[in-house]
Amino acid sequence: MSRGFDVTVVGSGIVGLGAAYAAAKRGLSVVVVDRTSEPIGASIRNFGHLCFTPQTGDARRYGVLARELWLQLATDAGFWLRETGTVVVARHDDELALLDAARRSPLGEADRLPVGEEIRMLDAAEVADRTPVRHGVAAGGAFLAADLQTDPRSAVAAIIRRLQSIGVEFRMRTAVGRVRSGVVETSRGDIATGLVVVAVNHDIDQLLPDAAEENAVERCALDMLRVDAPLPRPLGAPLLTGWSLIRYRGFAGLSEASAVRERLHGERPDLAAIDLNQMFTQLPDGSLLVGDTHWRGVTVSPFQSEAAVNLMLAEAERLLDVGPLRVRERWQGVYAAAPNEFLVERPQPGVLAIAATTGIGMTTGLGLAEHHLALELDAVSARTPSKGLR
Ligand SMILES: Cc1cc2nc3c(=O)[nH]c(=O)nc-3n(C[C@H](O)[C@H](O)[C@H](O)COP(=O)(O)OP(=O)(O)OC[C@H]3O[C@@H](n4cnc5c(N)ncnc54)[C@H](O)[C@@H]3O)c2cc1C
Repeated sequence: MSRGFDVTVVGSGIVGLGAAYAAAKRGLSVVVVDRTSEPIGASIRNFGHLCFTPQTGDARRYGVLARELWLQLATDAGFWLRETGTVVVARHDDELALLDAARRSPLGEADRLPVGEEIRMLDAAEVADRTPVRHGVAAGGAFLAADLQTDPRSAVAAIIRRLQSIGVEFRMRTAVGRVRSGVVETSRGDIATGLVVVAVNHDIDQLLPDAAEENAVERCALDMLRVDAPLPRPLGAPLLTGWSLIRYRGFAGLSEASAVRERLHGERPDLAAIDLNQMFTQLPDGSLLVGDTHWRGVTVSPFQSEAAVNLMLAEAERLLDVGPLRVRERWQGVYAAAPNEFLVERPQPGVLAIAATTGIGMTTGLGLAEHHLALELDAVSARTPSKGLR
């Protein structure tokens, strides 16, 4: 049995890193175990869009917390993170009506984001000023002021370096086969531990199959592209469209969303069939991340459809003021999907499993981890103020 740690985290994606950060900040000894040699999961495959504004309920609560943590970590770890906000381009009056309804929705004081006006309506000229869409495409839109953007590839690596610098140990290329109270069984031997945090995204069905089944966790696979885009000027902020409005709960849960959904699905059954979320972020080198499709199942096909990719490219060229896009990279990303937005389970004493079970883990994951680690750890330290967890 390896020497013990107060906290053992399984998974080095953003949720696991958030758990490690929460425990290390509280002065506890922490080890993070991952089967890969470096993180290559959803946390490096996403848009880096930290989209707090359209979150509701727990997602909003975790998002508010995560926003502070992202800003703090970016300063401490020195990675690229911008207070860009988000631009939403509306191409139809029903999309404008939905945005305006969201703007007018009441929010609890505790859940407010630290900006004056969370959603600011834009007219067509203002959209065109802020983002390089084709002339005449926008009917108007909105600016979501509190949202942030990062580059997931460099952010995750920088957070790991930061955690190492404050004493967190990483055991990579080490698969976890089983977790139980006080012990994590790995391919390199057992680790004795106070608390186990399981943060393995969709692979929860391999480690804790009962928890996965009780929460109806499936996989959702997304096709993503990184393209060279000769735009007349930078994107300025992540760009969402009507297809995004019928996804994020803060918009999709409003009655005005039905008209948007019905029209988009009626007009474009081909895009509805690939479950498109037409959205874009721009990396510091100018390349654009273009997304994305959604394919769901307990098992998802690894074979990416070129027809779906061609649709995404054609739609990007219809929206953006840009010549032909040249694909630089393409990849599939997978996240856990379930009817609820989060999975939080305590299958045994001292074992906590947490996951974002929809595509908002970059936005909320740090807050999800901080919230639940605080519940676990602050209760213990209140009982035994001078000791760790072992
Ligand atoms: C294409 C795509 C785009 C997205 N865009 C956004 C976005 O813009 N904004 C947003 O908020 N969210 C977005 N998301 C969602 C977000 O990326 C995920 O919700 C989040 O990254 C999940 O983090 P995680 O730490 O749970 O998982 P992961 O990053 O997948 O990490 C899980 C880790 O667990 C490890 N692991 C699994 N099983 C074991 C085991 N048995 N032993 C050891 N290690 C194990 C894996 O190797 C992996 O490193 C997107 C997701 C995808 C796929």
